[in-house]
Order: sequence, then C-alpha cells, then structure tokens
Amino acid sequence: MNQSDSKVSVFGTRGSAEAFAIRDFLYRCDVPFQWIEVSSDQSNVQRARNDYDVKQLPLCVFPDGSRLERPTVRQISEKLGLFRNPSRSEYDLAIYGAGPAGLSGAVYGASEGLKTVVVERFAVGGQASMSPKIENYLGFPGGISGADLALRAREQACHFGAEILLLREGVRGEFQPGKGICYLADGSRIIARASICATGVEYRKLNLPNEDRFRGAGVYYGAGASEASLCISTDHVFIVGGGNSAAQAAMHFSRYAGKVTMVVRDSSLKKSVSLYLIDRIQSSSNVEVLLLTEVVALHGDTSLQSITLHNKETGSEWEAETSWLFLCLGGLPHTQWAQEAGIVRDEGGYLVTGPDLLKDGKRPDNWTLDRDPYYLETNIPGVFAAGDVRHGSVKRCASAVGEGAMAVTFVHHYVTNG
Ligand SMILES: Cc1cc2nc3c(=O)[nH]c(=O)nc-3n(C[C@H](O)[C@H](O)[C@H](O)COP(=O)(O)OP(=O)(O)OC[C@H]3O[C@@H](n4cnc5c(N)ncnc54)[C@H](O)[C@@H]3O)c2cc1C
Repeated sequence: MNQSDSKVSVFGTRGSAEAFAIRDFLYRCDVPFQWIEVSSDQSNVQRARNDYDVKQLPLCVFPDGSRLERPTVRQISEKLGLFRNPSRSEYDLAIYGAGPAGLSGAVYGASEGLKTVVVERFAVGGQASMSPKIENYLGFPGGISGADLALRAREQACHFGAEILLLREGVRGEFQPGKGICYLADGSRIIARASICATGVEYRKLNLPNEDRFRGAGVYYGAGASEASLCISTDHVFIVGGGNSAAQAAMHFSRYAGKVTMVVRDSSLKKSVSLYLIDRIQSSSNVEVLLLTEVVALHGDTSLQSITLHNKETGSEWEAETSWLFLCLGGLPHTQWAQEAGIVRDEGGYLVTGPDLLKDGKRPDNWTLDRDPYYLETNIPGVFAAGDVRHGSVKRCASAVGEGAMAVTFVHHYVTNG
C-alpha cells in the first residue's frame, strides 16, 4: 500500500462549500486525507470520473476502497467510526462543548472518577482548533497548533475514560436537583447529575447579502488553519479583523499565498494586537494592512470571486479579486437554550455565575439551597459554565482550560454536598 492509499481521498472542486466542510472535519479530527481538486488538473478529473465512475462531487474514497459520493459529514464520521452513541443512560457529569474548557473538564472529571460525557456539535477543539499557532500556552515555548493541542487533549480525556460524542448539538435543557436532562438536535437526550456548559462563542458575521451562500465557498470564519496549505503563490488572501487571531492568520497565510491583506476597521493595530505579531507583520514582505477599511460587498456566482472594500476616512470604494476571505471578528455566545431553561445571562448572552449572581449580597431568585452559588455555578444548582461562554471570562485558551478544571472541583462539591 502506498502512503496515499492509507489516507482518505477527497475529490472536489475549488470553492465547494460541501468539500470545505469535509476537509474541515477531517482536519479537525486528525484523519489523514488528501485533497484532490478536480477542476485544476485534467488527470485528476479523469481519475475521479473514470477510476471511480463518479457522478457527484465531492467524492470520498476510503483506505478500504469504499467510497461515498456527496456525503454528509455525519456519513463520513459514521464510516470512520467517529460517530458514537452514548454508552450509558445516565452520567455523573455532562459537558457541552469540546473546546479547551470542555476538554479540560473532561480530563479532570474522568480522571477523578466521574462518569463523564462530552457532547460536541462538530469536532473537538472549538475556536482553538482554528488557530494555526498558539504561542502563549504554557509549556509550548515553540508554540503549538490549536488542532494539535485539541487532539492531545481529546486523547488524554479518552485515556481517562471520558466519552466524546461528536456531531451532536444540545438544544434544550431541563434541570431538577441532581438531574439535568439535555435534549439533542437529533432527538436523543443526555441525563447527568451535573452539567458544565462550555459552548464558547460563535463567529460574528459581516452580515452582508450573499454571505451565507459563500460560507465555505470563499468566505471562511476563523483563521482557516485547515485551508492555508491550499493557497498558492498567485492567490491574494483577505483577512478581516484587527485582533490577535487575525494577525496570527495573516502570518500563517503569508507562508502560502502570494499576498495577504488585513482589513481593519480601526486606525491602528496597536490597541488589539500583541507587539510581537505587529513586528512580524511589519517585517513581512507580502502582508499589507488596510486600516480604517471595511468589506462592504461580496461578489461571485457559486463561489466568491471578488469583494468591495470601503475606506472610512476617504469614502473611496474599490473591488478586489479574491477567492479567499477569512473573517476573524470575534464571537458571540449562542445561549438561547439557557434563557429558556431559566439560566441568568448578561445582556450579551453570556452565562452569569458565582458571585456575579449576587445582587447586594442577595442570592438569585428561586435559589433554594442554603449556600451561595459556587464560583462557576449558574443560578441553577449543578449547572456550571466554563470558558468563553461565561460572563467575565478571559478569552484565552489557558483560562478556558483553567475554568474547565475548576468547574470539576465544584461539580464534586455539588455531587457530594448538594
Ligand atoms: C483564530 C483564533 C486564534 C486564537 N488564538 C489564541 C491564542 O493564540 N492564544 C489564546 O490563548 N487564545 C486564542 N484564541 C482564543 C481561544 O481559542 C478561546 O478563548 C478558547 O478556544 C475558548 O475555549 P472554550 O472551550 O471556552 O470555547 P470554544 O473554543 O469556543 O469551544 C466551544 C465548543 O462548543 C461547541 N458547541 C457550541 N454550541 C454547542 C452546543 N449547543 N452543543 C454542543 N456543542 C456546542 C462548539 O462547536 C465548540 O467546539 C484564539 C481564537 C481564535 C478564533
């Protein structure tokens, strides 16, 4: 067997949103794969059309020779044995979200003897897996890719016996003392004595017409760690955002693309980007920064072909050709389900916990226990929040990991003492 036979082969066309979803999932699950762009090379078209008699792209060919035409991510995960059913009817601890906070909670929960399940909407790693290189995480002086960090954490959590259920989304919760029931989008449910919500934030959009149509077909959210190596030297990549994640992405793409442009609304990077990244951007010959500039329109038919830029100072507008637009605009929590379950949120939708729930020293309404809420506990006893989804959290990997671990300590207190 040659090396490529041991990988999943993904055939597809450039700018295909379906192919992007497959690549993104395989990348984030650490499944070895090769991407074969059929439109770029006639021999690849032949290989896809003749060798595999393909009628619909994308096509996935697996190491055992079997193939799936136009598969969903769920079908691929089933084929690879990554889609699992819960093994228990009840758990001690259910964690929602497998980003740094959720994975940390899983490591500590499972290693300390709690029957722990993690429910994740997509793949492990959360936002961190979008980061091409995390340079400020303790213990990795040379930096580590977010995907690598996440996969190590997944392995560690599974090693201690945590169950991780991918492609499952929590949509509704009912919480009684000592028993939380979470309903998942696929109709199944998870029952646990205590729960940790570690669902992080979702990327902000530009809110432009066509944006949803181009998602995965030229418009990408986050730093696109899985996509960078597909850029070639003639490509012009645009990155929107003026924070550290946008700057990291710019530096990462500059290794592959001919030109990288950061589109920044503010008048300076200094307020929001670490000095070491500003230095690297300034000394990079193929990275430019457009300050006081916004993307105001997206153009293309089935995939992105160009964008319109607007300079806020001069009012000038111009069109730039590109098929790569990465949006690093920060995020917002999606916690509508929490409001429906009676969990207190702040005006931004973040979950309020511990001392922040006390008003003039008074416990929250309907709080029945003879103690204050624990530090990371919501106003529903036994329901905790950790990481970016929590009101007042520091939006960093290390703090999310710390909160995941800390939440487990309070879970023990809750399970033991109520
Ligand atoms: C591009 C980029 C680069 C970054 N670089 C750095 C860096 O260099 N250093 C640093 O310290 N921080 C960095 N950050 C920030 C850091 O990644 C976040 O602070 C951290 O990931 C937050 O972890 P979390 O577990 O709280 O949430 P997230 O990472 O957001 O994970 C939440 C998880 O919950 C899942 N989820 C959401 N809703 C549901 C649901 N209803 N049911 C089931 N699952 C659900 C999501 O799919 C996701 O996997 C970066 C962020 C980005 C986007």
